Amino acid sequence: MPFPHPGATLVAHVKELRRRIHRQPELGFEEMLTSALVIGELERLGIAYRRVAQTGVVGVIRGGLPGKTVGLRADMDALPITERSGEPFASEIPGKMHACGHDAHTAMLLGAAEVLQTHRASVPGNVVLLFQPAEEGPGGAKPMIELGALDDPLVEAVAMLHVDVRYEAGTLGVAGGPVNASADELRIVVRGKGGHGAYPHTAIDAIPPSAAIITALQNIASRETDPLKSVIVTIGTIAGGYRNNVIADEVVMTGTLRAHDPQVRNELAPRVRRIVEGVASAYNVKAEVMIDHGYPPVINNAELAAHVRAYLKSETALCIIEPPPTMGAEDFAYFAERAPGLHMRLGVRNEAAGITASGHSPEFRLDEAALESGVQALVGFVFAVNHNS
Ligand SMILES: [Zn+2]
Ligand SMILES: [Zn+2]
Repeated sequence: MPFPHPGATLVAHVKELRRRIHRQPELGFEEMLTSALVIGELERLGIAYRRVAQTGVVGVIRGGLPGKTVGLRADMDALPITERSGEPFASEIPGKMHACGHDAHTAMLLGAAEVLQTHRASVPGNVVLLFQPAEEGPGGAKPMIELGALDDPLVEAVAMLHVDVRYEAGTLGVAGGPVNASADELRIVVRGKGGHGAYPHTAIDAIPPSAAIITALQNIASRETDPLKSVIVTIGTIAGGYRNNVIADEVVMTGTLRAHDPQVRNELAPRVRRIVEGVASAYNVKAEVMIDHGYPPVINNAELAAHVRAYLKSETALCIIEPPPTMGAEDFAYFAERAPGLHMRLGVRNEAAGITASGHSPEFRLDEAALESGVQALVGFVFAVNHNS
């Protein structure tokens, strides 16, 4: 069963929407202009919607044919970066930039909404459009779900696109299994007793146990975890001490804990605590470990991935690949915990045009030729879910 593809006028409109959003980037839960733009488009198309989680918007398209309810998610927030891309439509707000492509995600979902609404008589099931705030933090997916974004109508499969500058435009990555990692924040405080550098025996130095803790924590990845299961234990910052001849009374370290496998993730916190407390006791200092649980791993439904891959291969000219997972994090994980989910990667690289800078960098750009591919992938997902192979 073929599906409707976006025409040239609609593709041009998606590009224009993307540029409008790009000029006015907004940070997490401040997406007022962006959600107003989304609502304006949904009203123009006659799509029913409701506001969820401050700036989030949920639209519902009722298809004319029987079928499943499919969710499509786009994140809307930007990053606190000053843009240096050189694009004529670069950010007009210093210190804010769409450096992760969420402007494109929002525009492509609006494009898909227009295709689906225009052809709704031949669309199977319902389509729930999920315009989400604050993906870059503190996270808009969880509050949207808690406020019922997936419940009315009940979403039975859900997908998202993320632009990916590692792959040329025209490429779509669809892989089963874990595609992104969990990301938990770690903070360790080591407390000793200060003193004069000339009389270390009268003090309790917090520096050597901190060094020993950093070294001992590497054992989690190198010795305690199955080498075939990905894990990251990184200490990213360390601060302590006053000057060269003073014994430091306190050291504060922060880091990130990441894993693909939920069980490996669950074992990280007790392992970190055991090692930190053990080393602290050996060095006669006190240590405090704080772990702030962030996004879970994104786990794509393997069956759904294989099915959608086969369908899009037969119905589109997209170059479909199965990219390896990354240790990045995405709060789409919460959607994929509630319904079979698919995080798809949309290639936006254009080596010939010099579009190679990575996401989250001030030079980030994307090849807008990919916008059409993205709309196809989103609309195609809806039809693929309802297609019996
Ligand atoms: Zn990002
Ligand atoms: Zn992103």
